[in-house]
Amino acid sequence: MEQLPNMRLTTQRQIILEELGKVTSHPTANEVYDMVRKRLPRIGLGTVYRNLELMAESGIILKLEVGGTQKRFDATIDPHYHIRCNSCGKVDDIDMEVQPLINQVAEKASNYKILGHHIEFHGICQDCQEKNSDTTVN
Ligand SMILES: [Zn+2]
Ligand SMILES: [Zn+2]
Repeated sequence: MEQLPNMRLTTQRQIILEELGKVTSHPTANEVYDMVRKRLPRIGLGTVYRNLELMAESGIILKLEVGGTQKRFDATIDPHYHIRCNSCGKVDDIDMEVQPLINQVAEKASNYKILGHHIEFHGICQDCQEKNSDTTVN
């Protein structure tokens, strides 16, 4: 098995990790850049982007590539499920138990040794539901 590189957390990465850990909005690289820039005014978007990619590769943070148009990042690396709003595009965590049975079913069906799974639900968030019901009153 491949050994994960023991990544040294530079000050930049430490700050990126701290800022990412403050939010549950699964920000894009651009949004992380806006947050980090308040503390590191001279940092560039490219640097933030590279660090996010490296940190995701090392397993320090999670990179979400499902759905959506832009990569999003998550400081919560414990297995959890996501839900994306079809209307406004925001991504939330769902507070539900990760289903272990899915791995067994997939293992049987594929003969792979299953290491895990990601699930992204999609729907209409509460804000968008309320917005819609406001505008559809005739
Ligand atoms: Zn929404
Ligand atoms: Zn998440």
